[in-house]
Amino acid sequence: MRLKTLAQNQTRTTSANAKISAYLMIIVLVVLALSAVALFVAVTTYFAEPTSEYQQLTAAIFAGVGLIAMAMCLFLLYQSRKQAAEVKIEIPKVMTTIECQNKGCANKTVREFQRGDYVFKDLDVACGKCGGKQMITGIYKEVKEKEKTYAV
Ligand SMILES: [Zn+2]
Repeated sequence: MRLKTLAQNQTRTTSANAKISAYLMIIVLVVLALSAVALFVAVTTYFAEPTSEYQQLTAAIFAGVGLIAMAMCLFLLYQSRKQAAEVKIEIPKVMTTIECQNKGCANKTVREFQRGDYVFKDLDVACGKCGGKQMITGIYKEVKEKEKTYAV
């Protein structure tokens, strides 16, 4: 039960991250398109006849703006990639399995590891189903499913 809610929380946070990165992606694409337009204007202005000093200056400014915007976009993309890679490195949770000792019930629950937990430890907390004695039957590291990578 507890494990289920934990898993739900995890998927909720990852989907929120995906939303943010989707917005970021749109902004980056728009700025990239604008920088491409600036570079295009720069090139056409530079090669337009007749060429004046004023035109060359305009071309240089547009080229500068385009290149800076493009560089910023690439930097952002690189940063978001790096962040996504960092997020993946998470300390796996340690879980404790508790089983009801009543043979007719055999209710099994999983919760996060708590200090003092050990295998074959009798718990004071009674079974939620039958009220029988409970015992810790396992302690393990939670193996997470491979998280989906969002292309940003
Ligand atoms: Zn029970």
